[in-house]
Amino acid sequence: MAGQRELSAARERLAAAHAVAVLTGAGISAESGIPTFRGAGGLWRNFRPEELATPEAFARDPRTVWEWYLWRRGLIDAAEPNAGHRALVTLEQQRPRFTLITQNVDGLHDRAGSRRILKVHGDIWQSRCTACAYQRKDRALAYPTLPPPCPECGEPLRPGVVWFGEALPRIVWAEAERAVSQADVLLVVGTSAQVYPAAGLIEMARFVMEVNVATTPFSPSVAISLQGPSGEILPALV
Ligand code: NAD
Ligand code: ZN
Repeated sequence: MAGQRELSAARERLAAAHAVAVLTGAGISAESGIPTFRGAGGLWRNFRPEELATPEAFARDPRTVWEWYLWRRGLIDAAEPNAGHRALVTLEQQRPRFTLITQNVDGLHDRAGSRRILKVHGDIWQSRCTACAYQRKDRALAYPTLPPPCPECGEPLRPGVVWFGEALPRIVWAEAERAVSQADVLLVVGTSAQVYPAAGLIEMARFVMEVNVATTPFSPSVAISLQGPSGEILPALV
């Protein structure tokens, strides 16, 4: 667990910062019971996420990919935001210039009460058509047929998330880059920083503070590394 000296250094730095950006990954939702991809519980029916979260997997077997997403929706639906998500709501309320960027698709930041969220990997609670421009908010935990057909053109709907090998949403990404390059502090929470281009944001930042239960490729080079669960560290920070 991070020591008192590091924690107060981080608190001071945060208090002095004019603009603050936060980048979150799957780790911030781990204490809500949502498995990370690389941690325990990341496997589903012996598939690795890399074998399911791709356009190729969906083209080959859309039914299985949808079953996996519906299973994940069920887990998320039964979970609650944790103290880490809530601390970021407090931080947003305290700071006039604050940007939350998340790689998570679970919507727990929304449910905790964060107002402005840049979702660089999309949202599991959205579906969109593989053929036309149709998209919708989608709370379904099951469908009569899989893959569900588009109500406008009949082609399969897909989850509104970004898969491995796909481009990030352009405008959201540009806003994230701008927020990070203008921030006095970037707080990086619960991400293994292995997934590019999101991890590239960390390289762009002026001053990085990291919160993670483990060390990451960035730990040696960040200004302040706070080791421990985000549900404990973040409330202690804000
Ligand atoms: P990741 O790359 O963000 O890695 C998870 C990180 O969280 C690891 O570094 C781990 O040490 C850390 N961690 C675990 N528990 C923690 C805790 N309690 N406090 C602080 N840090 C903790 O995520 P991934 O699982 O490797 O997935 C890669 C991609 O898939 C990312 O886009 C990720 O956000 C997405 N994904 C999203 C969700 C979700 O929406 N909840 C779940 C799984 C994966
Ligand atoms: Zn359509």
